[in-house]
Amino acid sequence: MKAIATVERTNLILNKYNLHARKKLGQNFIINNNIIENIVTEAKLNDDNFVLEIGPGIGALTWELAKTKLPILSVEIDNDLIPALREEVSQYFDNSKIINADILKTNLLELFKNNFDNFKNDNKIVVIANLPYYITKAILLFLINQNIKITKMILMVQKEVANKLTGDIKKNNAFINIMNLYSETKILFDVNKDNFQPIPQVDSAIIEIKLVDKFVNLDKKQIISFIKKAFLQKRKTLINNLKNYYEVEKIKTVLEKNNISLNIRSEKLTTNQLIDIFKGVD
Ligand code: SAM
Repeated sequence: MKAIATVERTNLILNKYNLHARKKLGQNFIINNNIIENIVTEAKLNDDNFVLEIGPGIGALTWELAKTKLPILSVEIDNDLIPALREEVSQYFDNSKIINADILKTNLLELFKNNFDNFKNDNKIVVIANLPYYITKAILLFLINQNIKITKMILMVQKEVANKLTGDIKKNNAFINIMNLYSETKILFDVNKDNFQPIPQVDSAIIEIKLVDKFVNLDKKQIISFIKKAFLQKRKTLINNLKNYYEVEKIKTVLEKNNISLNIRSEKLTTNQLIDIFKGVD
């Protein structure tokens, strides 16, 4: 069987199953198998890895991932794509499981346990995906909050998001700070928009996100909730955003102790400064 990520095979499968790319689900299918091969190479998968794929589409990446013989769990929200994924990909590979679900509503631990008899709680999971761009942030926040051992992610994201995650931002926001706390990101390579069908409006990049808990002593739920509160309203000062949750005098004392202006807006703070404030007010 031939790879799926070519113009010919993509059109053939779309026609055969009477499918049309759904814009509202972020459906842009890769039509260049070199990119897919590079993604799998860059993932540097080990024999003991389990792979989670989000949004397999018509199986371009699923096909190459399945060839590694590792256990691959692919979660696709669009019910209409499931017959194509099953008939064109997973029926040829025992190690490829297709799940019809919204990734944000899944219990990943249960899914891996139910689909792979040999899966144990501390098995290492690598996430590999060409993400649906409309929910990139939601998916990343969902993944860093999981109770399974995700070690790294190799992801196709919008170029702009890749830049932000690697530090190219003028204004900090809650999402970037939370990602800074729990991960390290680097750009692996850029992908031009004409490698997709239909062609999206923006260029993309493949990034590697390593999940590292740099602040093991901090309660994850509490610090994430603190950061979200600090950014509740962009235009307000940090004190105004936090005053309903913490004693204002306490916040002022911490800011003064750290030589930070009392009128500071959260977007001007670094992740480390936010952590200092969190520790001080808590
Ligand atoms: N992996 C395929 C490829 O590279 O050609 C398709 C990638 S396409 C950019 C994103 C895929 O994510 C689509 O198939 C879309 O239906 C799926 N998707 C969108 N929202 C989803 C969700 N909440 N959960 C799971 N899959 C989702």
